[in-house]
Amino acid sequence: MTRRDELAEALAAVEDRVARACAAAGRPREAVRLLAVTKTFPASDAALLADLGVRDVAENRDQEAGEKAAEVASLRPDSGLRWHMVGRLQRNKARSVVRWADEVQSVDSERLAGALAKAVRAARDAGERESALDVLIQVSLDDDPERGGCPLNELGRLAERITREGDLSLRGLMAVAPLGGDPAEAFERLARAGDSLRVDHPNAGEVSAGMSNDLEQAITHGSTCVRVGTALLGGRGLASP
Ligand SMILES: *Cc1c(COP(=O)(O)O)cnc(C)c1O
Repeated sequence: MTRRDELAEALAAVEDRVARACAAAGRPREAVRLLAVTKTFPASDAALLADLGVRDVAENRDQEAGEKAAEVASLRPDSGLRWHMVGRLQRNKARSVVRWADEVQSVDSERLAGALAKAVRAARDAGERESALDVLIQVSLDDDPERGGCPLNELGRLAERITREGDLSLRGLMAVAPLGGDPAEAFERLARAGDSLRVDHPNAGEVSAGMSNDLEQAITHGSTCVRVGTALLGGRGLASP
């Protein structure tokens, strides 16, 4: 089997899971976007996924992603892929990330938001990008500072800060289910946080939740964006979380 056939088969299986979960939840299939998490996999895989109709890819490390996005741009100049940053991000990487990312899903502090806004302005001045940066606030559902995310009680303040920065566009929330806990309960809390966010930020409708192992539960609880790595591309091995 060629790699293209392998990816086509995996993509069909994931599509089927997403479609079934949407149907079971009484939601239209178009309500949920599929993000292919290509971290640790080569640019050629991202190019093949684009050939197969995937429109959104996600990465969790700036350097790897920047190189991969450039390579895909030369392999498939017309792929139209949108690149999403979903990993923890240090402020000193902001200037680099805004060169390749269309959206950063892992904004979890006012300082990071400020650094990204400044980086977008610098990139615009340098002619490296035209558009504002779409951002999601990564929410902490387990209060574990090691795993990143904004505590729920600080969400409103961070959202205000992002909105004040003209070069950032607040699109919604992202979260990773807590280790060990019940993902359904966590996704439900995330959905309620999204509901209250939209009272003041009606355009922040995105809820990015669900990965290879829990995408059905996430869709049941209102996810609009599932981030799927392993089920599409295969295992990443122990060295790369
Ligand atoms: C790696 C990663 C994923 C994909 O996880 P899989 O279990 O391989 O589907 C999703 N979200 C984030 C933030 C990730 O780092």
